[in-house]
Amino acid sequence: MEPDLKRLGKDLAALVGKENAFTDRPTAMAYAKDTMPWDVEPHHVPFAVVRPANSREVAAVLKYANTRGIPVHTHGSGTSLVGLGRPKTNAIVLDTGRMQKLEIFPERGYFEVEPGMHIGKLRKALAPHKALLPVFPGSEPVATIGGSVAVNTSAHAVDASLCKPGDYVLGLEVVLPNGEILHTGTESTRKPAGIEATKFLVGSEGLLCVITRIRMRLIPLPHTANIVAYFSSTEEILDTVMAMYREAIPTPLFFEYLDEKSSRVGFSAVGLEPPTGAVAMMSMHSATVEGCRARAKIFLDFLQRQKPIQAEIVDDKERWGKIWSSRAEAGNYVYRLGSTFGSEITPRVDKLREAFAEAKQIILNLDSYQGNEFYSFGHIGAPTIHAYAFIPSKDIPNEIKKAVTLEVREKTEALNVKYGGCGGEWGLTAQRAGFLEKKYGRVYTEVLVGLKKTFDPNNILNRGNLEGWL
Ligand SMILES: Cc1cc2nc3c(=O)[nH]c(=O)nc-3n(C[C@H](O)[C@H](O)[C@H](O)COP(=O)(O)OP(=O)(O)OC[C@H]3O[C@@H](n4cnc5c(N)ncnc54)[C@H](O)[C@@H]3O)c2cc1C
Repeated sequence: MEPDLKRLGKDLAALVGKENAFTDRPTAMAYAKDTMPWDVEPHHVPFAVVRPANSREVAAVLKYANTRGIPVHTHGSGTSLVGLGRPKTNAIVLDTGRMQKLEIFPERGYFEVEPGMHIGKLRKALAPHKALLPVFPGSEPVATIGGSVAVNTSAHAVDASLCKPGDYVLGLEVVLPNGEILHTGTESTRKPAGIEATKFLVGSEGLLCVITRIRMRLIPLPHTANIVAYFSSTEEILDTVMAMYREAIPTPLFFEYLDEKSSRVGFSAVGLEPPTGAVAMMSMHSATVEGCRARAKIFLDFLQRQKPIQAEIVDDKERWGKIWSSRAEAGNYVYRLGSTFGSEITPRVDKLREAFAEAKQIILNLDSYQGNEFYSFGHIGAPTIHAYAFIPSKDIPNEIKKAVTLEVREKTEALNVKYGGCGGEWGLTAQRAGFLEKKYGRVYTEVLVGLKKTFDPNNILNRGNLEGWL
């Protein structure tokens, strides 16, 4: 039942201040939209938006909503690419943007940060302490640290090299739906062994709690050496990744690729000569410059054995900047100039080539739309295959956008089941209910639903995400 918006606005203003509580429709509409390609529908539009200043105010809002059964959707920056950012039911949107406090404790080996700080800003603040922030999404200037820990994505970084942000989280402050404030983890740099709540609250995607403070290890900032390799085809890059794991070659920190089409788009956008084939770019890391060079040399020797058209270490910072940003430009192209339907397949590494071939066929032979293009780029060393269906127009009916989204999702999820993967980034719960059941069986989903019920008996937090959209 829809609450009385006037009353709701007044009550929320009493909790967070009237300048931080909104019930006007333009503000609500702004929080209803996300990057998903289809139109906002009435049930996405929030009743209200609040911007609490601290965990006490978060607790007050959650307690208020919980006693009245009003859903609450937590919003970092709303940049999730797979539907997490849009409320699935009319709700109070809780925007963490005002919670930006940062304390750095070099003598304790960690920092503590509130969830609303942008990743780019946090990285800058850590730089004087020579600390690495282990989170690298393309959305870095705007995505929040809270959103990234809630999703547990390291994004561009290769898991075998750096793991996930959650592996560096020492403890959390979270608010439960009933308004209780919970502290987890440790103030030591020694992480707790055994069962411990931090482990399942990291990555819980706003389903169990609102994260209000994150304690994270200070990781010494490594040096990097960068390599670019040009191959005749994407398949040769896939073979290279498979060989890297098979031969136990030390994995790079980053290992990105652009397929034949994306490399032309990306390189042209940054003013570089478009390559004739596909491009791989890698960053090797080490504590010292010499260590980096040694690792880069080992990797270059390995690459040469894979017979690229050309491979080289790139010392020129400006040129590397251009090569690296060609990847983001390919993304800008597909997301800005048309309707783009993304997917993530993370196959068992020895199945990379088969999974890629099938993904390409799926995208090029959709039942729901004919004539779309296939693009692929991303974090192949992880390995992640992002197979994109690109329609060079935004002007297609909403029903078709939904049908394509659903078809791409279901068919690429089936590849994750077939090839042993589970998805490794983006935050996928909003499209997961069906997938989890297919992959792990009913008992597994029942356990998850039970966990959600334990934390959130009235199902107020991110209602609809575990159930899945569409
Ligand atoms: C150009 C571009 C490039 C991107 N590149 C990548 C990439 O390489 N890899 C990748 O994984 N993702 C990528 N993303 C997706 C997204 O930016 C990241 O997943 C990012 O970490 C989400 O941060 P956010 O602040 O926008 O979170 P939101 O989208 O606001 O939220 C994500 C989820 O976390 C929950 N949440 C947010 N804050 C909290 C909190 N404090 N407590 C509890 N739950 C919370 C939300 O309810 C939601 O379910 C990209 C997006 C764009 C637009």
